[in-house]
Amino acid sequence: MSTPLIEVDDLVVRYGTATALDRVGLSVRPGELVALIGPNGAGKTSLVNAILGVVRPAAGRVRVRGRVALVPEGRQMFDDLTVEDNLALGAWRRRHEKDARDTSRVYAVLPQLADLRKRRAGSLSGGQQQMVAFGRALMARPDVMVVDELSLGLAPLVIADLAAHLRELNARHGLAVLLIEQNARLALDLCGRGYVLEAGCVRAHGSAARLAAGPDLADAYLGAGGAAGGPTEGEPRS
Ligand code: ATP
Repeated sequence: MSTPLIEVDDLVVRYGTATALDRVGLSVRPGELVALIGPNGAGKTSLVNAILGVVRPAAGRVRVRGRVALVPEGRQMFDDLTVEDNLALGAWRRRHEKDARDTSRVYAVLPQLADLRKRRAGSLSGGQQQMVAFGRALMARPDVMVVDELSLGLAPLVIADLAAHLRELNARHGLAVLLIEQNARLALDLCGRGYVLEAGCVRAHGSAARLAAGPDLADAYLGAGGAAGGPTEGEPRS
């Protein structure tokens, strides 16, 4: 089995006396699509921040091999900048490289962005902004992309289109993806395997098929009788 790009072992994260993550383990290997599912406050953002080195673990270990790029929750566009300039910011860590601002590779894999390049990011729809956020992450030339809440506030058709793009980036370009989602159905449709995080602990993990069939996830996220889980537009998140 290949060496993981992201490897988290027995991770503990605390804020003062509050424990946000309690002995969490997770891995993402090259070429994998992995889901991290959990409700508000489960500890998903804390785990992402630990992977990015933004929060320091109280115990345990995070190992990252290769480049990780984040597609942040809420997309975090610079509204007054053009799409092109927002993309260029994704290469900030590579800014000393000669081709750091070269967006052509991103336009080659996400051609819709080429048509939007001169548009102000703030004038775009939520789905278009999410696509720009994908492109901005790709500018870092990552081995693994961490996508924090792909579906948040977006209509089902837009989500399906974005999911298809992620699948293609994975299948055709070998990009590994860690998808953080409250929408369990979307996450398990898209990803080969996943983790269910609750109250700072991994409650279940395994193949998407096994998780989808498991009683815990079915009750908590997929709804009785298989109704779609996760928030939809117009519904409060918490
Ligand atoms: P959401 O989906 O709402 O973003 P989450 O699953 O990402 O939630 P975290 O944001 O990681 O969860 O929060 C995990 C726990 O840690 C929660 O109980 C939260 O209140 C707490 N927490 C998060 N950040 C801090 C902080 N800076 N100080 C104190 N407690 C925090």
